[in-house]
Amino acid sequence: MKLAEKDSKVYNLIRQEIDREEYSLIMIASENYVDEDVLDTQGCVLTNKYAEGYPSKRYYSGCRFLDEIEDIAIERAKKLFNAEHANVQPHSGSSANMAVYFAVLNIGDTILGMDIAHGGHLTHGSRVSFSGKFYRTVGYKVSEKDEMLDYDEIRSIAIKERPKLIITGASAYSRIIDFKRFREIADEVGAYLMADIAHIAGLVAAGYHPSPVEYAHFVTTTTHKTLRGPRGGLILCKKEFAKAIDSAVFPGIQGGPLMHVIAAKAVALNNAMSDEFKEYQKQIILNARHLCKSMMERDYRIVSGGTDNHLFLVDLTNKGITGKIAQESLENSGIMINKNLIPFDTKSPMVTSGIRIGTPAITTRGMKEKEMEIICELIDRVLKNPEDERVQNQVREEVRGLCSRFPFYSRIYNL
Ligand code: PLP
Repeated sequence: MKLAEKDSKVYNLIRQEIDREEYSLIMIASENYVDEDVLDTQGCVLTNKYAEGYPSKRYYSGCRFLDEIEDIAIERAKKLFNAEHANVQPHSGSSANMAVYFAVLNIGDTILGMDIAHGGHLTHGSRVSFSGKFYRTVGYKVSEKDEMLDYDEIRSIAIKERPKLIITGASAYSRIIDFKRFREIADEVGAYLMADIAHIAGLVAAGYHPSPVEYAHFVTTTTHKTLRGPRGGLILCKKEFAKAIDSAVFPGIQGGPLMHVIAAKAVALNNAMSDEFKEYQKQIILNARHLCKSMMERDYRIVSGGTDNHLFLVDLTNKGITGKIAQESLENSGIMINKNLIPFDTKSPMVTSGIRIGTPAITTRGMKEKEMEIICELIDRVLKNPEDERVQNQVREEVRGLCSRFPFYSRIYNL
């Protein structure tokens, strides 16, 4: 029986979500629309199968075809990122990071990562995450002067604190990261270096951000952001750490791998080798830069004064509104962004002084510089009148019209 008849409650909510994604401007920097082939693969029969272990070393029978699929995913990940070893089993970016920590750290060891209030991720040492509970964590911040990474300062902290692992990578940082410099600092203090490229993986794969693979002992990523694959994680490392990483993932922190997701990762990794994907990544950056510039022309203060990647942070202090209010009023208008702490924010994480804006998803729909100008005007109109429902309703209509010109799901579903 079809889901629509069997479970209309869930079916109807899925339909509404399809509608929301089709007719909203998805500008949350960590989100994207996967290709139809990735979507199909992730929904396939491989979800039925247990395959604990690794190709040719499984704990269950019947894994012949799954072995081949996982091998293909591993080979594609290695090829795309030019890595010596890949583990495609982590269920998420957080589990990929956890596996690296479990592979090389003991409980109580010191880790040095980017402060979450300055752009780092929860798993880089935040007190509310396992990373801050199991390890002694030290954070580095961006410089007060230019809101960019200050490598001399990071080096001084590393020399003082002697971390066993240094983490580079971020969830809300719009500038190029100098991975070579990070490795030099790690070498100087005898630390391992982990680069978490969850956000920028697509840019790295396409050559629009320097790759950390040569420098970091471990590279982790999610597969669902700029990489435009299924929701999941991936670890790349040098051969010498292959065994430690594999056993940290399974049996260390996970049981059966999600083989339908691994197959979808394989499909997405293949897509990421295409010229079309390279063009796509280039356009993500062009769009981010153009939108950023248009917002600056309307007197929005951009953290660090611009962007080199797929996202940027807007400081709303001079506009007299909080990130929370901005998020709510934009959501009512069909524009999805998220409130975000800005460096040295005086407001709480639930309120914030800023918002984070990203271009991966709208670029997938085919929007270009011209549309960025339209979007900038729409955002500005809402933020100038954050309490005005009439403005929000009007903008929501215009957003719907714009989205209709760049259909995504109507190519797949009957909308
Ligand atoms: N690392 C970074 C830099 C991230 O931004 C994120 C998610 O936003 C993660 C790790 C965690 O990924 P997941 O949500 O799949 O656990």
